[in-house]
Amino acid sequence: MTATADRTDATDLPQVRRLVTEIPGPRSRALQMRKLEAVSAGVGVMLPIYVVRAGGGVLIDADGNSLIDMGSGIAVTTVGNANPEVVAGVQQQVADLTHTCFMVTPYSGYVEVCEALNRLTPGDHEKRSALFNSGAEAVENAVKIARAYTKRQAVVVVEHGYHGRTNLTMALTAKNMPYKQSFGPFAPEVYRVPTSYPFRDRGLKGPEMAQIAITRIEKEIGATNVAAIIIEPIQGEGGFIVPGDGYFKAMADFAQANGIVFVADEIQSGFCRTGDWFASEYEDVVPDLITTAKGIAGGMPLAAVTGRAEIMDSVHAGGLGGTYGGNPVACAAALGSIRWMEENDANARAKQIEALMMPRLKAMAERYPAIGDIRGRGAMIAIELVKPGTMDPDADLAAALNKHCHANGVVTLTTGTYGNVFRFLPPLTMPVPLLEEALGVLDQAFEDATR
Ligand SMILES: *Cc1c(COP(=O)(O)O)cnc(C)c1O
Repeated sequence: MTATADRTDATDLPQVRRLVTEIPGPRSRALQMRKLEAVSAGVGVMLPIYVVRAGGGVLIDADGNSLIDMGSGIAVTTVGNANPEVVAGVQQQVADLTHTCFMVTPYSGYVEVCEALNRLTPGDHEKRSALFNSGAEAVENAVKIARAYTKRQAVVVVEHGYHGRTNLTMALTAKNMPYKQSFGPFAPEVYRVPTSYPFRDRGLKGPEMAQIAITRIEKEIGATNVAAIIIEPIQGEGGFIVPGDGYFKAMADFAQANGIVFVADEIQSGFCRTGDWFASEYEDVVPDLITTAKGIAGGMPLAAVTGRAEIMDSVHAGGLGGTYGGNPVACAAALGSIRWMEENDANARAKQIEALMMPRLKAMAERYPAIGDIRGRGAMIAIELVKPGTMDPDADLAAALNKHCHANGVVTLTTGTYGNVFRFLPPLTMPVPLLEEALGVLDQAFEDATR
């Protein structure tokens, strides 16, 4: 269990939790005052410590505090912040050329990232990829491609799903606040069916939930009208919901039997986050299309749609793209990031993190009955908090724990439709002692909050 401990991946930042001021400190508070004057109030900040450096498992703020990073900027810096492989690739590329627009005069990095995606994503069929700037943009393009290929319009998504904040992806996203409130009207021909949420499905198994969803599609939409079914193999913003075994596969099989393009949204779960390159592999599902972003490029903005050649090539030339999509600097970052994942057995690291965290969280659940469920895979793990002895979500407790962790130098995140899920997304470069320390702080947070 020391494999991650003795490799801090060449960051020269001391791998320690060390607070030298209150959180946030005076410099961060001054910057936050300027933020309030300069930045739209619509852009919220969870923890206003202003970060100046980051790497391994720590974030250093403007006051010199060193905090443990249990969020990876929402599953983005999977290979560690400022990973040397990423930095080297970016520095070289930015000195050579910063942009030409791939659709005008191309460059090789774009093609190489697509080759890597085609090789690494599930299935050994012929594939093609297209690159974009953000996860939401990738999901929108997956819908465009599926509609062009099937010549159908309806798009099916599931409860608790999250797919982004653009107009089409707001329609695809389940949760109202904060994502959709006052931003309608939303795009038409989007239909939501049940997901599998084992903790809250009253004993119904994955295949039974799939049957309910499929009946809804058949009776209320008509399978022949459906262009795409879009599902996250593990739901991220919905609450790290791991569907019951068989649900994801049954939905994929139904799509295949009915000429529907099955899209796995792996923007949060992909790129070794769950201990597999892609979480779809866990149930041996080979999606027709797969959307990726977040962990793909070590923090540079990049996203992709990858899928069956005949589907991806069904779009007319010029139908896909965008000025910045597949920017050369972002592509260089992705190639560095992917190389690091391959050379450092990133999936094994994710599994080590799971092996360390699960028993610790289970032991906490014995002592704190507010922990109703522990779930996730690899370095994508969460606990769902309830009022003890009930199924009632306890969002206040999640907020209190979060506050305690932040004040004590651990950057943690909450999530979930009910705001009651406490999630862990450490970078795979997190040293083991720091991970243990972070869990110790969480334990103390429970101690304080439930006393
Ligand atoms: C974050 C996320 C998105 C949106 O990605 P952005 O880069 O924020 O546009 C879409 N789908 C899933 C599953 C995500 O986690």
